[in-house]
Amino acid sequence: MTDQYAVIGNPISHSQSPLIHSEFAKQTGQNLAYDRLYAPLDGFDRVANDFVGQGGKGLNITLPFKGDAFRLANQLTFRASVSEAVNTLTFKDGVVYGDNTDGVGLVRDIVENLDMPIAGKRVLVLGAGGAVRGVLLPLLEEKPLRLTVANRTVEKAQALAAQFAPYGTVDGVGYPELAGEQFDIIINGTSTSLHDELPPIPHGVFAPDALAYDMVYSAGLTPFLKRGQQEKAAVLADGLGMLVEQAAESFFIWRGVKPETRRVMGILREVLS
Ligand code: NDP
Repeated sequence: MTDQYAVIGNPISHSQSPLIHSEFAKQTGQNLAYDRLYAPLDGFDRVANDFVGQGGKGLNITLPFKGDAFRLANQLTFRASVSEAVNTLTFKDGVVYGDNTDGVGLVRDIVENLDMPIAGKRVLVLGAGGAVRGVLLPLLEEKPLRLTVANRTVEKAQALAAQFAPYGTVDGVGYPELAGEQFDIIINGTSTSLHDELPPIPHGVFAPDALAYDMVYSAGLTPFLKRGQQEKAAVLADGLGMLVEQAAESFFIWRGVKPETRRVMGILREVLS
């Protein structure tokens, strides 16, 4: 029997996860099907449980259900438990296993694909929503010199910094406090690019060799990446690599084989252009 997987979200029609996972399955010779599942905002548990009832083996979780998935899981990995957000559920022998692969996806894209070590760097993360919550522990595990979280609602950045302080040097600030500071890696984890907006970063935050990384992926440069370009950031990258790498880690959790990601990134780039 073909094993069933899906990505669940609201909205969901835009998701590229079925394409990515079917390419991984072809490449590794795995017999699986991967669909999109829409859930109403108050219907995550029902839709997920129906999927399990029909024999579903695993789910990826996207906006806005990563907190719901965290609560549904009855066994969590350390990284999922610390981030309090789950993007990968595995259903086996009546147990619901929860993991979060967003952070490892981001770190692999930066360190391996973009060849930019995080160790010893000054890292700035913009935003304090679900995506940022999922990436802070894996970023801190790379041992940056310091990690700063900046957010429009300052209290959220401060709360995240306090929550992750046991795992490394991290502080939470508002945007005005970034004036006069410089960073080597600046990651936009806000949703501003989806609305063609720029987070209010002061001029001058990009160090001369900086990486400007936008978690949102798009055909052209996002407003954040355009700002990075104007300020002479050395490397500009969108979140397509993160998307494919987090999917590869989920695929590995489910199937025990690591797919090759570069070719799939190329296919996805073509589809999105
Ligand atoms: P959330 O809705 O949880 O958080 C949104 C964040 O953006 C908040 O910090 C919010 O600040 C900030 N924000 C929104 N509008 C503005 C604005 N006008 N100015 C400044 N800050 C703003 O979203 P997520 O964290 O789940 O997702 C963030 C982005 O990351 C999404 O665009 C998503 O597509 C992307 N993403 C990409 C992934 C990938 O694999 N490439 C994986 C996961 C997410 P405030 O708290 O003040 O409201």
